[in-house]
Amino acid sequence: EEGGVAREAGFWRLSKLAVPASDDPGKDFLGVSPPLLQAIAKALKFPVASMLPEEAFSVIRKSFDARKILKEPQFVYTVDVDAKKLLDMEPRTWDFIARLEPRLGIVEYMSDERVAADLISMLNVHNKVSDDEHGIRDTVNNGSISPTRMKPRVAIVGSGPSGLFAALVLAELGAEVTLLERGQPVEQRGRDIGALAVRRILQSESNFCFGEGGAGTWSDGKLVTRIGKNTDGVQAVMKTFVHFGGPPNILIDGRPHLGTDKLVPLLRNFRHHLRELGVAIRFNTRVDDLIVEGGQVKGVVVSDSNLQPGSVDQKLSFDAVVLAVGHSARDTYSMLLRHNVDITPKNFSVGLRIEHPQELINNIQYSELAAEVHKGRGRIPVADYKIVKSIGEGDVKNDIEQVDQNRSCYSFCMCPGGQVVLTSTNPSELCVNGMSFSRRASKWANSALVVTVSSHDFEPFQSHGSLAGVEFQREYERRAAMMGGGNFVVPAQCVTDFISNKLSVTTLPPSSYRLGVRPSKLHELFPPYITEALQQSITMIDKEMPGFISSEALLHGVETRTSSPLQISRHRETYESTSLQGLYPIGEGAGYAGGIVSAAVDGMYCGFALAKQLSLFAGDI
Ligand code: FAD
Repeated sequence: EEGGVAREAGFWRLSKLAVPASDDPGKDFLGVSPPLLQAIAKALKFPVASMLPEEAFSVIRKSFDARKILKEPQFVYTVDVDAKKLLDMEPRTWDFIARLEPRLGIVEYMSDERVAADLISMLNVHNKVSDDEHGIRDTVNNGSISPTRMKPRVAIVGSGPSGLFAALVLAELGAEVTLLERGQPVEQRGRDIGALAVRRILQSESNFCFGEGGAGTWSDGKLVTRIGKNTDGVQAVMKTFVHFGGPPNILIDGRPHLGTDKLVPLLRNFRHHLRELGVAIRFNTRVDDLIVEGGQVKGVVVSDSNLQPGSVDQKLSFDAVVLAVGHSARDTYSMLLRHNVDITPKNFSVGLRIEHPQELINNIQYSELAAEVHKGRGRIPVADYKIVKSIGEGDVKNDIEQVDQNRSCYSFCMCPGGQVVLTSTNPSELCVNGMSFSRRASKWANSALVVTVSSHDFEPFQSHGSLAGVEFQREYERRAAMMGGGNFVVPAQCVTDFISNKLSVTTLPPSSYRLGVRPSKLHELFPPYITEALQQSITMIDKEMPGFISSEALLHGVETRTSSPLQISRHRETYESTSLQGLYPIGEGAGYAGGIVSAAVDGMYCGFALAKQLSLFAGDI
């Protein structure tokens, strides 16, 4: 056809399709329900919804929206329309389709090429190199591997999301990869975390931060990211998670999460696949030093993590070393400084973790609909929240704040239906975070409330040079450990008392934290500019979410490891350190990611960039 539908046949994307929560089949239904068909018909201005062929539509995103400005809570969909399938409809409906035009913000035309490109990028990061049709090499410009060349040897240090994805890409592309992880595989790590919860034994190398899967394994497994959920990199990561056993709904859910129970088997499958590809995985193996010759990294010095550094060392040679150590590898940072690696302090955030009964948050966020969540029908997701408050100049009065002017206070890593956990890697330092299981069924909702801090806040720790931010964190973790009185007991305070600067004298409300809480003056733990920013923002949040300040809400100290306190400088294109050849700093610990997905994406792209430098494939990325 000329000019009509045939010329434009391809995929259309309809977004912001709202279905009232009371009409929707619920959060786990990802098909096209009759009410959704009606919303589609309305968006297309098509008169009879039931005449639209269901098979022409596929849901690609579904989110729950319970904002107070809405008349009632709703599910919001993004749907792709296969125009070719619409063409099979009765000829009379053709007139209508021919008139389809992108409508402001609702309909976005997607060319076949765009769809193909999306698919290719999503496809088979996990495919074997031998699979020429869809393998990862196709995603990188039809590269080809020279079978005669000796394989380059690459060490990946750290098996968090960034390290795992770098290992996957490099192994797929033919490098000889060794993955070095100071912690234990997930099976043993689970037992170590159990011993921590029950017997208060903290294994310094196998805990909530260290071990297979990295810091996010015993976590809520939120897969939301600020780097754009529809980008090729994010989609490739999400597809890979599904390939290794993640539930397919994470590809569609607007706020996807996995939960620890789903993450653990996923990581086991990931490990088996890496081993099938020939990756040598060494757990319980800590990298203590780099072997540097003539300004070039030639290998690493490793030791058994259970032994003191230097007691039984082993030197391993590599052509390149990818450093994916996360933000808690403080010993590794110090080692890098000894090699004069370029490191600069970076802003991050610190604060406290607040916990409410989940029912209270459901009531605040959902009003009448909360009753349905409480009945446990599972149709509506348990309520969460995300808050950002800006504390402006003059609002917080003290010397340091006058220099800083603006600070943000925001909720971070909110875990609905979760629990507060200990993320210390050393018994004399205490910090917390949150985790949950996939069903998010616990009776608590916790979230960090944190305030941004930047280099001038680290001035008292200037003698530590580039590690001033690390020392800043350490200082408040030590104070928290002392306030708690030891044995991993967490200092806690009712939010009502925190905002009025007084010790909680009545019995504290219950907490999900397993190792005990102690009434403490948390308002005296941080410097006033942090405490006052937290107090002000909590008051502001309560205006938006009445009931947030409640006698049932308990603050836990401290939340310090929100992101890396430093950045290891690297070249933009090659990912190589600006100060040491052969070193590739990636992920959260290097200051290039903040969360599971962004760390995985960073690792994946570093894998491509390094493969290119190692001549594993020809052409550009
Ligand atoms: P990491 O995951 O930290 O991995 C680094 C790895 O390197 C570790 O396994 C460590 O043992 C290893 N290592 C360190 N030093 C050495 C060395 N010298 N030698 C050998 N191995 C070494 N993010 C989200 O997006 N969603 C969430 O819901 C979420 N919840 C979280 C809950 C908790 C309790 C915690 C602690 C974090 C959570 N995060 C969450 C943050 C997320 O885990 C991190 O952003 C992410 O794991 C960073 O990935 P990474 O690969 O950069 O580093």
